[in-house]
Amino acid sequence: MLPDSDAVELSVVVPLYNEELNIDYLFERLVSVLNRLNMNYEIVCVNDGSKDNTIERLIKHHHQTPEIKVVNLSRNYGKEIALSAGLDFANGAAVVPIDADLQDPPELIEELVAKWREGYDVVLATRRSRVGESWIKRFTANAFYRTIDRISQVPIPRDTGDFRLMDRRVVDALKRLPERNRFMKGLFAWVGFKQTSIFYDRPSRHKGETTWNYWRLWNFAIDGITSFSFIPLKVWSYIGLLVAIPAFFYASFLVLRTILLGIDLPGYASLMVAILFLGGVQLVSLGVLGEYLGRVYEEVKGRPLYLIREAYGFDSTQALREKVHSSVENGQEHRA
Ligand code: UDP
Ligand code: MG
Repeated sequence: MLPDSDAVELSVVVPLYNEELNIDYLFERLVSVLNRLNMNYEIVCVNDGSKDNTIERLIKHHHQTPEIKVVNLSRNYGKEIALSAGLDFANGAAVVPIDADLQDPPELIEELVAKWREGYDVVLATRRSRVGESWIKRFTANAFYRTIDRISQVPIPRDTGDFRLMDRRVVDALKRLPERNRFMKGLFAWVGFKQTSIFYDRPSRHKGETTWNYWRLWNFAIDGITSFSFIPLKVWSYIGLLVAIPAFFYASFLVLRTILLGIDLPGYASLMVAILFLGGVQLVSLGVLGEYLGRVYEEVKGRPLYLIREAYGFDSTQALREKVHSSVENGQEHRA
C-alpha cells in the first residue's frame, strides 16, 4: 500500500491523565489487536501532566515495545490539547485516537480499519448505549447534542466521541486549524471528508475516575457552542428589538395618558419589574459577549498550544518537522 516498507500505516493516539492503573491492561489489549491486524503500527501516548506514575510506566513500556512512543507534555493541558499533540506526532497513514480507560474497546479498531480500506476517510465509532452513566449525565449529554445540532453551522454527529479512524488527509487538514480553543468533536466535523460510522456499546471506565465533573462539562459545552455558532451573540439584537418595540408603544401610551388625564403616581411594581428584567437581560448579554471576547483574547495572544518536556521514540528530525502547534522556534528540545 505504501512505497516505504517501514512507513507507519496505523497510529493509535492515546491521551493519558492519571491513568497508571489502566496502562498495563490497555497495552495488553491494544497490542494484541494491532498485532492481529498485520500492519505497521505505532502507539503515540501523550502524558497530559499526570500526577501519578503514568509517565514512568509509559517509558517502561516504550523500552519493552518500541512501537509505543511517548510524548510528555510540560503540564496538564486537558484532553483536547493532549489529543492535538498526539495527532501532531502521529505518522500513520491512518490515525485512531482512543481513550486510555478502555471505554473505547480496542477490538473495534479492526472494524474501523476494514471500513477505511473500503475507501472512507473518516470512520466514526458511534455509541449505541452508555453503560454505567447516570440518567443525569445521559440527559445533559442529550440536551447538549440537541442544542449544538440546532445552532452549529456544521452538523456535529451525536453520540460520537473522539474514538474514530482518520485518514492521513484528514489529520493533515486538522493540523492546519490553528485555533487554541480545540473543541475536537467540532473540528473533526468541520473538516468534512467522506465519513461513515460503526456502532458499539460503550462500556464504563476500567479503573480510576473520570475527571469530567459537571462544571468541566458545562465549560466544555460552552466551548463547543461558542466555537461553532454565533447565535448566542446575534440573538441579543432580536431580543432587544422584541423588548424595544412594545416599550415604544407603551411609552407613547404613558405620555398620552399623562397629557390627557394628568399625573397618576402608582406604578412602583411595573417600574421595578421592568428595571430588574431589563437589567438581568443586559447582564446576560454582557456575559455572552464576555465569553466570546475572552476567547478572542485567547486566540490573539497566539501562545503555542502546548509545550513538550520530552519525547521518546520519535527520531528528532521528524519530531521537529511534525511540530505545527508547539513552538519549536522557542527552543524546546526533543530527546529521542
Ligand atoms: N485525559 C487527558 N487530560 C485530561 C483529562 C483526561 O488526557 O485533563 C484523558 C484520559 O486519560 C482519558 C481520556 O482523556 O484517556 C478520557 O478521559 P475520561 O475518561 O476522564 O473522560 P470521559 O470518558 O469521562 O469522557
Ligand atoms: Mg472515560
